[in-house]
Amino acid sequence: MPTTAIIGAGHAAGQLAASLRQEGYEGDIVIYGDELHIPYQRPPLSKAYLAGELGLEKVYLRPAKFYEDKNITLRIGETVTAIDPATKTITSDEGSTLQYDDLVLATGGRPRKLPIEGADLGGIHYLRSISDVDGIRAELAPGRNLVIVGGGYIGLEVASIGIKTGATVHVLEMESRILQRVTTPQMSEFYDQLHSGRGVQVHTDTRASAFMGDGKVSHVVTADGTELDADLVVVGIGIIPNSELAEAAGLECDNGIVVDDHCRTEDPHIYAIGDVSNHPNPLLNRRLRLESVPNAMEQARVVASNIVGKDKVYAAIPWFWSDQYELKLQMVGFSSDGEEQITRGNPADNQFITFYMKDGKVVAADAINDPKSFMAAKNLVGKAIDAAALADPAVELKSLMTR
Ligand code: FAD
Ligand code: NAP
Repeated sequence: MPTTAIIGAGHAAGQLAASLRQEGYEGDIVIYGDELHIPYQRPPLSKAYLAGELGLEKVYLRPAKFYEDKNITLRIGETVTAIDPATKTITSDEGSTLQYDDLVLATGGRPRKLPIEGADLGGIHYLRSISDVDGIRAELAPGRNLVIVGGGYIGLEVASIGIKTGATVHVLEMESRILQRVTTPQMSEFYDQLHSGRGVQVHTDTRASAFMGDGKVSHVVTADGTELDADLVVVGIGIIPNSELAEAAGLECDNGIVVDDHCRTEDPHIYAIGDVSNHPNPLLNRRLRLESVPNAMEQARVVASNIVGKDKVYAAIPWFWSDQYELKLQMVGFSSDGEEQITRGNPADNQFITFYMKDGKVVAADAINDPKSFMAAKNLVGKAIDAAALADPAVELKSLMTR
C-alpha cells in the first residue's frame, strides 16, 4: 500500500487529503500539523470568529470524524523536522520517522515580525492561528485603544471588527495608501474613506518605530514621534513562507518552494501547495506565490489527481475576497495588469464592479457587494469585450460571455 505524507495541517492539507480519497486513492494518508487543531479555515479568524460570532466547530474544515471515516491519520501537535529525499523518509520532533511514496509540503507561512523597540511587550499580537485570535479576543473590548500596524487585509478586517466592538482604532500604514499591495489607488481611496467614515483613524506614510509600556504595551510611537495610546496592538505586515524544511532537504526555494505546473518540485515525488508554493501560471505567463484559499484548494485538487497518476496542470486565474463591515470585496485577476478601468455601478452606493482592461481584453475585476456581477466577471477575464457594453448596466454581463 503506498503512503502519502502531508506536512502541515492547514487548508491545503485538509483539502488534499479529502481530494485524494475522492480520487479513489486507497493508500495511507498521514498529515502532520504543528498546531493543536485539526485542519481549519483561516478566513473567519479575522472576521466572524474574531467577532465572536462563529464557534470553533464551524472554523474547522471538516469534523474530526471525517478523517476517521476516511482513514486519514492526523498527527496533530507533531512537527516535521527533516526530509531525506534519498531514502524518502521524514522525521518528526517526536523522533518518529515515516517512509513515503509521495510527499506534499503544505507548510503555509508565518507572520513577518516587526523588530522594533518594545516588540516583546505584552499586548502585541500577530494574527495567523486560532490561538492568536483567542489572545486578541481576550483583550479587545469597548473603549479599548487598538492600534493596528499594517493596512493590508489583516489590518483592515481587524479594524472593522474593532470598530464593531466599540474600540478606538488606529491603522498605521507605511506606504502612501492602504491595500497598496493588492489594489488600485481608486480602490484604496474607497477603503480609506469607508474606514475613516466608520471612525477608524487611518495614518498612511506612517511607520511604527517603538512600542512603549511597563511589561504591557501602553503606547505606540511612530517615526515622526507621535505617541498613540494602545491597550493592544495587532501587527499584520505580511507573511514569510515556511520553506526552510524544503531548503534543508536540497529543494529549490525562491520566495517559497519552487514547483512546476503540476505543483511538483524537482523531486518527482515531492510536491508543494498553498501559500508556500512558488508556481508558474500559464494563463498569466509568470510565476506567482499566492496567499489565498482558492489557490490552496485548487492546488490540492491538482496534486491529488497527479498522485493517482493523472496528468493535471494547475492553471487558474487567481481570485480573492475580503469582508469589512457589511461590504464584501471580491477580486479576480490582478488590477495592476490593466491599463484602463471601466466601472459599472456607483461607488457611493457601496455596490459596483470595476473591470481592468488591457489591449481590449478584461484582465481583472474588483467587485463590491455585487457577487452576481463578480460571478460573470470571472468568466470574462481573458476575453475581448466591448468597453461600452461593459460600462452599460442595461447590458447583462452574462450576455457578454457568449458574444
Ligand atoms: P496554512 O493554512 O498556513 O497551513 C499550514 C500549516 O502547516 C500551519 O498550521 C503550519 O503551522 C503547519 N506547518 C508548517 N510547518 C510545519 C512542519 N514542519 N510540521 C508540521 N506542521 C507544519 N484567504 C482568502 O482567500 N480569503 C480570505 O478571506 C482570507 N482570510 C484570511 C484571514 C487570516 C487571518 C489569515 C491568516 C489568512 C487568510 N487568508 C484568506 C489566507 C488563507 O487562509 C491562506 O491562503 C491559506 O490558509 C493557505 O493554506 P495553506 O494550507 O497553504 O497554509
Ligand atoms: P498583507 O496583505 O501583505 O499586508 C501587509 C501590509 O502591511 C502591507 O500593506 C504592507 O505594506 C504593510 N507593512 C509592511 N511592513 C510594515 C511596517 N513595518 N509598518 C507598517 N506597515 C507595514 O499581509 P497581512 O494583512 O498581514 O495578511 C497576512 C496574510 O493573511 C496574507 O497571506 C493575506 O493574504 C492573508 N489574509 C487574507 C485575507 C483576505 O484574503 N481577505 C484576510 C486576512 C489575511 P507593503 O505592501 O509595502 O509590504
